[in-house]
Amino acid sequence: PGEDGGDDGPPAVSLDGVTRRYGETTAVSDLSLSVREGEFFTLVGPSGCGKTTTLRLIAGFEEPTAGTVRFGGESVAGVPPEDRDVGVVFQNYALFPHMAVGENVAYGLRFTDPPGGGSAEERVADLLDLVDLGGMADRDPDTLSGGQQQRVAMARALAPGPDVLLLDEPMSALDAKLRERLRVQVREIQQELGITTVYVTHDQEEALAVSDRVAVLNDGRAEQVAPPRTVYRRPATEFVATFVGDNNVFTGDVTAVRTDDGRRLADVAVGDATFTVALDADADAASVTVRDRLTVCVRPERLAVDAGRNELTADVTSAEFLGETTRVHLDWVGREILLRAEDPPEGTVTVGFDPGDAHVVDGH
Ligand code: ATP
Repeated sequence: PGEDGGDDGPPAVSLDGVTRRYGETTAVSDLSLSVREGEFFTLVGPSGCGKTTTLRLIAGFEEPTAGTVRFGGESVAGVPPEDRDVGVVFQNYALFPHMAVGENVAYGLRFTDPPGGGSAEERVADLLDLVDLGGMADRDPDTLSGGQQQRVAMARALAPGPDVLLLDEPMSALDAKLRERLRVQVREIQQELGITTVYVTHDQEEALAVSDRVAVLNDGRAEQVAPPRTVYRRPATEFVATFVGDNNVFTGDVTAVRTDDGRRLADVAVGDATFTVALDADADAASVTVRDRLTVCVRPERLAVDAGRNELTADVTSAEFLGETTRVHLDWVGREILLRAEDPPEGTVTVGFDPGDAHVVDGH
């Protein structure tokens, strides 16, 4: 498989030019993407970017205004949710409070016999084992923690043996520590079953932590679809560069392009400074010429105090202690610069970066 996680079979789920409008609002705009068989695929983006609408289009709770949703290469236009072989877990997992845990899971079998031919009781017991709640079938939901309740909701969604699991912000009601634990469990369950999973979150850290691939959505469009490492190291757009982790973004005009030691370098005039950035690694960067306008980003952890290259002198305005490092905010002639440091500097400092640590996000 290449970087796109590509294989040869038809994608488990695909969207082809899908648009969904509500009156004047375009929630999803000409969106195309494919989710591979067995893949953990995450839709991530800020509030209102169209994540939930995309998931609801896949589930069949909404139909596209234009474009096609396919399962295994076949259009599912007009196919209702219960005939799409999807298991869905929503943000407010809403277990039935008057039903015991086991009855809640068994409710997932109301339309189908248990897959594999066993009894409903066996299926429920197996699923509760899977989500690490073995022996809890007789408990009332309100005696469980939020994380446990969410795992019951997952067991209920998995009960009929769906082809695709759809999870919409399943952790957002939980506190931070619990969220981190649950996301590991969700990933483990997904891996154990090998089930194709589409996951919705606004939390970029969560998205990077659990996914095989991530689609970063903005304004109903996909800005980038790639594995977490690629999204982090090679953001395709300025939006991705700043939405996923911290970044320093500089835009300026190219004043020179040259080759040095086998590397293509460009000088970029940003304000009163000129930065030299390496161009070789990027497809976007390959066509850069003098007078192009270039946007480059540099991760805060790549900026070093007194680096000796690409220096700028700035004033420390604030510092946030994060444990392992400190996030330092600097003012550079009216622009905010972010730096990560173990020993945060104070006052006026000179920071710089290596040309190879700059990443071009927009070559034109
Ligand atoms: P959040 O993280 O806040 O849930 P989201 O990324 O899931 O956001 P959506 O819920 O898909 O975003 O909404 C995308 C856009 O479409 C928003 O502007 C929203 O107000 C609008 N929208 C969604 N559903 C409807 C609806 N049923 N009627 C009208 N507008 C809607």
